[in-house]
Amino acid sequence: MITTVKGKVKRLGKTYIHEHIKLDLSGHKKDPDTNYNDTNEVMLELKELKKKGIDSIVEVTNRGMGRDVLIMVELAERTGLNIIASTGFYKEPFLPQYFYQLSDKELSNMLIKDIEEGMDGTHIKAHVLGEVGTSHNRITDTERRLFYIIGNVHLNTGRPIFTHTTLGTMALEQIQILEERNVDLEKVLIGHMDLNYNMEYHLRVADKGCYLGFDTIGKINYQPDENRIQLIKELVARGHENQIVLSLDLTRKSHLKKYKGIGYSYIVDKFIPLLIESGIKEETISKFLVDNPNRLLNIS
Ligand SMILES: [Zn+2]
Repeated sequence: MITTVKGKVKRLGKTYIHEHIKLDLSGHKKDPDTNYNDTNEVMLELKELKKKGIDSIVEVTNRGMGRDVLIMVELAERTGLNIIASTGFYKEPFLPQYFYQLSDKELSNMLIKDIEEGMDGTHIKAHVLGEVGTSHNRITDTERRLFYIIGNVHLNTGRPIFTHTTLGTMALEQIQILEERNVDLEKVLIGHMDLNYNMEYHLRVADKGCYLGFDTIGKINYQPDENRIQLIKELVARGHENQIVLSLDLTRKSHLKKYKGIGYSYIVDKFIPLLIESGIKEETISKFLVDNPNRLLNIS
């Protein structure tokens, strides 16, 4: 069972695992491009995406990032996509002021309420704990506290945890905190692993049983897609094809086609043909898009 913004479903079909349809990080980033609010353009692109065969997206915008639950419902209705919502907190310095004032218990209860009763004054429920993050090459004390709280909520609700690593760093440290809390690592997705081009590191994370997010595909200013493909090929060769999930993580207006960006259909139009050309079988790609997301997201 998976809770979408329009109710429960049993299967999701082809799924993008880590996306945003609206968010606003411009307060701290001081860059108007990061106020990702062109809902009309997003809707047009998502309609096209659905026509190209994608069925579902996991929306990982949470508290403090400008989550907009009603827009998620509207876009689910107008595009026909399943949209799965999230709750949690992002990372410093994007945590809301109340995170520093309330107790662990109060914050945990807030997230549990988002899952069990509804978010932001609605009856629309979150399904995922994400995206919860850490800083570049370090975890602040407050981020450690965040992971501890998220671990608690996972133990209470069984919900999958989607992390954000900054440029693919601190993945093993994230896993260690969650492991100490007895989190089921088969319900954990380590995000943005594809920004770290280090095969040994990928294997160490994969050996823990987590999912690995190849979820910034097309962001070639950080990492060429050829490197992503090399990592995927090697992980598949080592038997980890059941742990790979795909997404784009579009977060800026300039990522949209209208503003000359790659747009939401990039995986279908460009990346999958490259994977096939590199020798990855279609049934393996289907695991990345269908079987793995469904296994990760489904809770009994
Ligand atoms: Zn992220």
